[in-house]
Amino acid sequence: MLSAPPNTLNDLARHHRALASELQAAFATLIRRGWYVLGSEGAEFESSFAAYCGTRYALGVANGTDAIEIALRAIGVEGGDPVALTANAGGYGTAALAAIGARAVYIDVDPATLTLDVAALATSLKHGNIRAVIATHLYGRLAPMEEILSLTRQYSTPVVEDCAQAHGASHLNQRAGSWGVAGCFSFYPTKNLGALGDAGAVTTNDSGMAERIKQLRQYGWQSKYQTTRRGGRNSRLDELQAAVLQLQLPFLDHWNAARIEVAQQYRALISHADVIVPDGFGPNHVAHLFVVRTQHRDSLIRHLANRKVGYGIHYPIPDYRQPANLTDYPEVRLHYTDLLAEQVLSLPCFPEMTDGEVAAVATAVNDWVV
Ligand SMILES: *Cc1c(COP(=O)(O)O)cnc(C)c1O
Repeated sequence: MLSAPPNTLNDLARHHRALASELQAAFATLIRRGWYVLGSEGAEFESSFAAYCGTRYALGVANGTDAIEIALRAIGVEGGDPVALTANAGGYGTAALAAIGARAVYIDVDPATLTLDVAALATSLKHGNIRAVIATHLYGRLAPMEEILSLTRQYSTPVVEDCAQAHGASHLNQRAGSWGVAGCFSFYPTKNLGALGDAGAVTTNDSGMAERIKQLRQYGWQSKYQTTRRGGRNSRLDELQAAVLQLQLPFLDHWNAARIEVAQQYRALISHADVIVPDGFGPNHVAHLFVVRTQHRDSLIRHLANRKVGYGIHYPIPDYRQPANLTDYPEVRLHYTDLLAEQVLSLPCFPEMTDGEVAAVATAVNDWVV
């Protein structure tokens, strides 16, 4: 079967086509009802999403970065507190810390998984007086939560999961978002579960956390116009996005399976001496991104552009090297984080990709002459 390769990483128009008429019907209902923020749609989605993740609570917020900030504030992280995280995850955790005024303590990644290096985290916990840890499930792969939690338990350090790329990923039948004291989700349109705009949520099993998150997402209110909690702000999930997410949630497992299938096909088809393909796809790696590695990335990019194959880099600049952060973190150098930022390259991977499209991308990669 001959197909053109996708010339973008995602195809959201294709993704939403099947549900278009149901989405329009949901919008019509909302417009008739005339209630747009913190209403029944949001409450229904929160309870569905909590049930899906296997947590007692899910609280809608405006986006994934806010989810991280609000979760950390709900733990009690304050200005100046050191928080451990990786620097290869797009800068969202760093942005959340900057909003609080907390200090990032960057931990290198395990080159096999690109998630937190547990040994490096152990060293940091021993010496760093770490207030909290952000564990990012990068590219759809769960961070090693059992190892991380058995370590942090020794220091009573709370762990917040960044689940923005790993909706539905699980290990031992326990889903992303149910391991740490809080799970932070983004429903940005390209995520495994995506709204038609910005949206996010925080999951937790802790009723005190849930209460604090509810206050923090709405000005620090305990009740209307009663501001009792510092650090509050406006970060709510609106009814329209909640309705979209509620309609899509039943399809998430199916979409994840389709992404994993695309990744497995790539693994079977891509064969090139200068390209390392990722592995480990399955329940604990839901293929949010298919990220290969090469030492000659510029050359591969030129080749893919010539063949009109979409690609992306997740992510090109470690957080501590970002111009805006240089004055705060001038001395940080992490071996694998720095190395991998120059080697990673994402290929198109979305649930609706056809076998022919996957084959066309794989053929283009295999034809590359370094
Ligand atoms: C997308 C993303 C976020 C942030 O989500 P927004 O909704 O865009 O704020 C956080 N962490 C990771 C790993 C992400 O991929």
